[in-house]
Amino acid sequence: MIKILANDGIDPAGKQLLEAAGFIIDTNNIPQEELATRLQNYDGITVRSATKVRKVLIDVCPNLKLIGRGGVGMDNIDVEYAREKGVAVYNTPASSSLSVAELVFGHLFTGVRFLQDSNRKMPVEGATKFNDLKKAYAKGIELRGKTIGILGFGRIGREVAKIALGIGMDVMAYDLYPFKPEVELTLGGGTTVKITVRTATQAEIIKEADFITIHTPFVDKPIIGSSEFEQMKNGAGVVNCSRGGLIDEDALITALNSGKISFAALDVYDNEPAPRADILAHPKISLTPHIGASTNEAQERIGLELANLIIGHFKK
Ligand code: NAD
Repeated sequence: MIKILANDGIDPAGKQLLEAAGFIIDTNNIPQEELATRLQNYDGITVRSATKVRKVLIDVCPNLKLIGRGGVGMDNIDVEYAREKGVAVYNTPASSSLSVAELVFGHLFTGVRFLQDSNRKMPVEGATKFNDLKKAYAKGIELRGKTIGILGFGRIGREVAKIALGIGMDVMAYDLYPFKPEVELTLGGGTTVKITVRTATQAEIIKEADFITIHTPFVDKPIIGSSEFEQMKNGAGVVNCSRGGLIDEDALITALNSGKISFAALDVYDNEPAPRADILAHPKISLTPHIGASTNEAQERIGLELANLIIGHFKK
């Protein structure tokens, strides 16, 4: 029987599917330092972002045939090395796109109505300074009719575009590579509508968009730094639910403090898992701790996608 260690857990739906196909799935977590001795008893391992599967581990587990990553980023796996050694490596890039896109809008709706600050202050001052707070948060704006600029028009960028169009925003999209500007929205009731978004250069998005959201992989330097902030519309908002390092955090603080931009939203940080204190305490930043893919639906899709990949691999 083929034995898989789901070291960072796997959604019950995926586990069930694998067991029904005759696999043994162990969901007990083996601490990183014990993997070198204990992973040898398994044919495959699945991980999320916690467990690291590096060269040294691969070298001491000659029985290992497959590494599965529930999610997208594979920074915790020595992918090329594993493949050179004949170990298959799979990830599940599409399963969480919608969850990340919805989080972007959670942050956007938050930012335009100051919810990040209101949620911090209401428990402390809500009963004593209600009217002051009411005044402080009185100048919110609507998203409808505003322009969102999407940098990186891949899986998540496209899902962001669909939600934006659905709530009446205009969309400008940029990608490093040529892309199809048409997106298909599935509306409530199952109706589908095809809409073509405006393609733009990165520079046009920086200058013209009311809100800018990044959906690229990590690139070697920030996509948004001080010169980009300077060129933005006054009062713009920026969102990074992609990778830490894509927005220069020093430049971000400067742009927020000067009033050049009105708010930022971050799910990812330079220094995870210990983001800097001035970012965490900033009243104009809406914050989440890297939870873009963390919904029940996404985790179930990830579990099922991973299970199907594993079954497909071993039943070939
Ligand atoms: P994707 O590969 O489908 O899309 C990324 C797009 O960015 C591609 O179309 C690519 O051509 C484009 N691109 C690459 N470099 C670029 C550049 N310099 N400028 C403009 N476009 C560029 O990836 P995806 O699934 O949409 O994921 C996007 C990002 O979101 C990734 O960094 C991923 O790690 C991250 N992510 C975060 C979470 C989270 O929990 N917050 C969850 C899933 C994915």
